[in-house]
Amino acid sequence: MSATAKLQVTILGSGTSQGVPMIGCTCPVCRSSDPRDKRTRSSIFLRTPEANLLVDTTPELRVQALREALDRVDAVLFTHAHADHIMGFDDLRRFCDLRGGALPIYGSPETLQGLERIFGYAFNPRKTVPGYVHVTAHPVVGPFELGGLTITPMTVPHGAVQTTGFLFAQHGRRLLAYLSDCQTLPAEAAELMRGVEVLIIDGLRDLPHPTHLNVQGAIEAARLIEAKQTYLTHQTHDKKHADRERDLPPGVGVVYDGMQLEFELK
Ligand SMILES: [Zn+2]
Ligand SMILES: [Zn+2]
Ligand SMILES: [Zn+2]
Repeated sequence: MSATAKLQVTILGSGTSQGVPMIGCTCPVCRSSDPRDKRTRSSIFLRTPEANLLVDTTPELRVQALREALDRVDAVLFTHAHADHIMGFDDLRRFCDLRGGALPIYGSPETLQGLERIFGYAFNPRKTVPGYVHVTAHPVVGPFELGGLTITPMTVPHGAVQTTGFLFAQHGRRLLAYLSDCQTLPAEAAELMRGVEVLIIDGLRDLPHPTHLNVQGAIEAARLIEAKQTYLTHQTHDKKHADRERDLPPGVGVVYDGMQLEFELK
């Protein structure tokens, strides 16, 4: 790759499962005029010179794709099969049409089974009709290569299910780790991410939660990982973006919809 090659990351969504504003809520955060307080469901998009990768297909995938003018997806990675991360799956049909064929999807065997249970029609290799979604399933249990990146799946607990976090690296450089839904950080995952340049991690709210890290837990996890820069995601309506950022220690921020991150590739 050339010296100017880049990994560009766009935050498609940064909100918790209900999104912010929440339907029927009149709290100051849900009524905020700060665009950073409009949080669609959590998802990211990665662009390298070789491939465009989407992580999760939220109920707002169509809105997110239009907002960010996404016109090509080469593969989709799934963290887990909860509704807030998969219910935009059928909108992958446009990306199938734009590429003229089935879209490869990656996730744990359990996550892919969950997707197939709900969207079985998309997993039929004989049915490749334009206008419909078609995928090829790639269960991941160890590191794999996509778009010139080495992607390491990391299993983390998230209540009754396990979530897959993803570490994106190039030539051993740990560029980005994405852990959208996790309740605790296993030592093995922390070791895989140690010293990562940017960590995006579940930091739901101040109060503890049975299936998510709260803000304090996310900060402690980031310290353990020794992440150079950390951003919280999967945010509730408990606090405005500006107020949340003001209260965080140095090196920790909050992602917002449309935020861009950039990494130089070698
Ligand atoms: Zn979620
Ligand atoms: Zn609210
Ligand atoms: Zn979840």
